[in-house]
Amino acid sequence: MNIDTGQIHHFDSEEALRAFKKDLAQRDQRLVELSDHEARTLKPMSNGRRKNWMRNQPCPCGSGSKFKKCCWSSYS
Ligand SMILES: [Zn+2]
Repeated sequence: MNIDTGQIHHFDSEEALRAFKKDLAQRDQRLVELSDHEARTLKPMSNGRRKNWMRNQPCPCGSGSKFKKCCWSSYS
């Protein structure tokens, strides 16, 4: 999931995923990895609700802190 857009990405191949991750890294963004169950849960939600779900997830900046204690305000 791209937390800037709340968009959930699906990829047909490992190659497509790698290309996408490389592109994100160049723009200094990171993906949040979701399980199939999480993706199914989040898909019907609005962007705001998805971001809210992110609160207790590891921050996508890679700090190891929870999102709400790290970069939450810069995405609000
Ligand atoms: Zn962060």
